[in-house]
Amino acid sequence: MATQQVELVAVDHEVWSGEAEVVNARTLEGEIGILPGHAPLLGVLAEGHVVRIGVSEGEEIRVAVHGGFLSVTDDGVQILAERAELSDDIDVSRARRAYDEHKDADEDDAEGRSAFLRAQARLDAAGETVDH
Ligand code: ATP
Repeated sequence: MATQQVELVAVDHEVWSGEAEVVNARTLEGEIGILPGHAPLLGVLAEGHVVRIGVSEGEEIRVAVHGGFLSVTDDGVQILAERAELSDDIDVSRARRAYDEHKDADEDDAEGRSAFLRAQARLDAAGETVDH
């Protein structure tokens, strides 16, 4: 299958770059799947979601991404995130603790809600079961 250049950068470090067949992400407009040759696009990433990079059949990179932008240009797909962690780098017990601590955060507790969404995305990226 054809591939496209993908670059995922957090504000303080590069998280992943390489060739991939597909990128799945959630923007404020909804879930998108980007294949090579996709029309140019600029989207705001939804808070606390998992970006899935399909490198090849059966090989998927999962990254917990916490806010940022996604763009598609002739050069490929670029994701700039405020914070992002590769699934392999996620400390599951820390994320579970944060999840339990913030799961009852009120709608008007913006910080608590964000911390909950980050924990949920980390667990999801790490392949742990979470209630959505
Ligand atoms: P916690 O309550 O566990 O500190 P948090 O969501 O408040 O979580 P952040 O402020 O988002 O933590 O992150 C601080 C730093 O720690 C960032 O560099 C982030 O990537 C990293 N980090 C946070 N939680 C985890 C985790 N479960 N596994 C790996 N890295 C994490």
